Amino acid sequence: MTARATGAGSRTPAEDAAAGRRPGGEARAAGGAKRTLADDAYAELKARIIRSELAPGAKLSIDGMAKELAFSQTPIREALARLESEGLLARRPLSGYTVEPLLSAAEFADLFDLRMMLEPLAARRAAERESELDARGAVAATGSAAFEEAAALLDAARTPEPGADKLAFTEADRRFHDTVAALSGSVQIARAIRRLDAHLHLHRAYIAPESIGETEAEHLAVAEAIIARKPLAAETAMRRHLERSRVRHAAAFTAANAEATAKPKRAKASR
Ligand SMILES: [Zn+2]
Repeated sequence: MTARATGAGSRTPAEDAAAGRRPGGEARAAGGAKRTLADDAYAELKARIIRSELAPGAKLSIDGMAKELAFSQTPIREALARLESEGLLARRPLSGYTVEPLLSAAEFADLFDLRMMLEPLAARRAAERESELDARGAVAATGSAAFEEAAALLDAARTPEPGADKLAFTEADRRFHDTVAALSGSVQIARAIRRLDAHLHLHRAYIAPESIGETEAEHLAVAEAIIARKPLAAETAMRRHLERSRVRHAAAFTAANAEATAKPKRAKASR
């Protein structure tokens, strides 16, 4: 048996999405990729937060969550600590964990200002980098590195069907932005984008069904410009996508924040 790091936060968004469903109780995977119980508890709790089943301000107790999710306390404790490190939960000395509120209007503005600085740059770099591959003659052939990258990028640009689960949309959107960031070829840029963790915050707010189709069209415009090796077009397309996305999310945020202030934070205790 090989020792493998557990709960190291090395999973992909796709795995997180897949983990929305837990393969039952204490089953610890027969062969294949080893997921720990803490991984499963983490995925389940995160999904509930993103879907607002655990609302901003809700109190979570280790004991209560362990009972509700039918886990022992250790994996729950680990999962809660991980969600705290991601900024989805806050821990207060005597009251335990609470679900963090949505971003404030100012934080929301900052988030998009930062994205606007980083992501169009990443898209431009990705298109420039593809040009380099092209110059080396790596393109045309099916199965070449550039071909595979182009196929993966187009695939990542797709969003789920309208009406899809919010979490599925979130993960698909995140996957596309991470893919572009990675294609930039800059570890620094990619890391800076990942650290913003925009999707974690954005998609806790309501998303109109028509947003899904619009998002896909905008993603495809970015992807096609990168594949066509047009740095300026790629940069512009990403900027336009973020501008539109900002407008779509701003509406959702205003509504969600209004609702949050109208209702006093209520502890939806898990016991
Ligand atoms: Zn997007």
